[in-house]
Amino acid sequence: MKPAPFAYKKAQSVDEAVVLLAENDARLLAGGQSLIATLNMRLSAPSLLIDINGLGGLDGIAVKGGAVEIGALTRHAQAERSDLIAQQAPLIARAMPHIGHPAIRNRGTLGGSIAFADPAAELPACLLALDGEIEATGPKGKRTIKAQDFFKGLFETALGQQEVLTAIRVPAAANDTRVGFSELARRHGDYAIVGLAASARAKGKGLSDVRLAYFGVGNTPVRAKKAEAALASGDIEAAVNVLDLAPHDDVQATGTVKKHLAGVLLRRVAKQLLEAR
Ligand code: FAD
Repeated sequence: MKPAPFAYKKAQSVDEAVVLLAENDARLLAGGQSLIATLNMRLSAPSLLIDINGLGGLDGIAVKGGAVEIGALTRHAQAERSDLIAQQAPLIARAMPHIGHPAIRNRGTLGGSIAFADPAAELPACLLALDGEIEATGPKGKRTIKAQDFFKGLFETALGQQEVLTAIRVPAAANDTRVGFSELARRHGDYAIVGLAASARAKGKGLSDVRLAYFGVGNTPVRAKKAEAALASGDIEAAVNVLDLAPHDDVQATGTVKKHLAGVLLRRVAKQLLEAR
């Protein structure tokens, strides 16, 4: 299928993109890896595409005030190859190779992935597991949204229609930071049937601040808070036994299968958390 007709404008600044969003039935074009498919399938038919590729200052990766800040236009491939992300945001580094295939990672952006909010995507879950935040710029200026308040529903976020996601931030890893990541997909690079991104801090033989963020099990990334509490003692089977998820059936698997797979992933990821970073 071909997309419905649309106009195209290359924005020269974030402020111009915000004005264009306010004045038109428009969509931002970042890497285009999800948007173009939705246009071609006519799931979306904006009258204007605002190309934000080329906006200066939105593709940097830096440590600022104890947080790793990643610009919205950072390509997945750029993040995958970043030593700074490998050292300071190792959960994101672990997730990167699971996002699609190299051609997709060469064009797709971190901002696009978070804004699109596919419930089976890796990065929204990583952001939730890391207690990260999203920076958005709109008509009233900049604001920061916690990841836990950002993912509202199926492909639905707290981002306003006139806002541009400009950066994401996650706490820089400390010596006692532990992270874990695993997903089950039919083929490497496919969207996950179920996935789990996790972070914690080492505490004696156990863990503290455990955050388990599942993807592919609901309309948004989902935390399993009872399992988090149980895992703090280091008892993996206790955590699996109280795993508080109720996935629905979808095109990939039944809810029952997903729940079983979520337990399998919890065992794998818990071992990663309990080992040294
Ligand atoms: P675009 O497609 O350009 O935009 C997506 C949406 O986000 C649009 O609505 C757009 O308006 C909005 N948007 C983009 N940037 C911003 C911004 N800065 N501010 C506000 N709104 C914005 N993703 C995964 O996570 N895991 C996978 O396994 C995976 N597999 C894939 C397999 C295939 C074959 C393909 C084609 C894609 C796959 N993807 C996967 C999607 C890929 O990660 C995309 O790059 C990502 O979802 C969207 O990023 P993008 O930069 O391409 O955004």
